[in-house]
Amino acid sequence: MSVNYDTLKKLQDVLAQVFIVEDRIKEIPRDLEVKELVLQKTKVNYYEMKDKCDQVRAELEELNRKYIEAGKEREAKESAMESATLVRESENNEKEIRDAAIIEQTLFKNKNAKQKYLADLETKLAVQDEIVKAQEEEVEEETKKKDSLIAEQMTILDKLNVEREELSKDLPANLLFKFERIIRNKAGVGVVPLHGIICQGCFMELPQQFANTVRRNEEISFCPYCSRVLYYEESDEDNNVIQVHGDIHTEEGEEGAAAESIFSSDEDIFGE
Ligand SMILES: [Zn+2]
Repeated sequence: MSVNYDTLKKLQDVLAQVFIVEDRIKEIPRDLEVKELVLQKTKVNYYEMKDKCDQVRAELEELNRKYIEAGKEREAKESAMESATLVRESENNEKEIRDAAIIEQTLFKNKNAKQKYLADLETKLAVQDEIVKAQEEEVEEETKKKDSLIAEQMTILDKLNVEREELSKDLPANLLFKFERIIRNKAGVGVVPLHGIICQGCFMELPQQFANTVRRNEEISFCPYCSRVLYYEESDEDNNVIQVHGDIHTEEGEEGAAAESIFSSDEDIFGE
């Protein structure tokens, strides 16, 4: 059976596109997943900040309460001083008022510092809130986009698959399986010419007998090094081969048969 390499080349191009589109379809939800993950982290940050704000706000309230109490205490001591009659009592009172005033002032300073800290936190929380909202919008947009992008790519894929079916229909299933795997692994190139005895896919030198088999084009040959499908193409290399290896048109000899048996062991996809 001689092989139609044009069909294989066309199939190669269609398959390469099919795989690109398939990968693209897989990538589409991934963009959304990444955005959702980022949003999740931003939200965690936001809630941590919010908890911190609530905590600091409660501490501030407590400080305020203590500060007001301290003020009342000082005032009470000042009134007591006014009604003090003994010198000794008055001295005691003065010291107590001074102490109460120090406590009041300290609380006032702490309260102000806490107030400032809370204001900073609230500013940061507001910024984080904006980020959350922006990312939520992005996720929402991406979700809408995802569905239409997938539908769009599926239409392209369906068309390609029709071509793929058409080009594949006369090819044996095991060849198709192998060929599709090669295209996937070899960046879309699964059929390459043989120049002389050199595979133009991996540029390895192949045994002369194997090259002869390729040249006879009676069956599909796969490069034993890179697994690509090989077809013979005339080139300058032919002259070199003749010089080095002599006449490549020698009739089927024992050598030719031997080479075939070496390289067709697992490549014999048309084997009967
Ligand atoms: Zn090769």
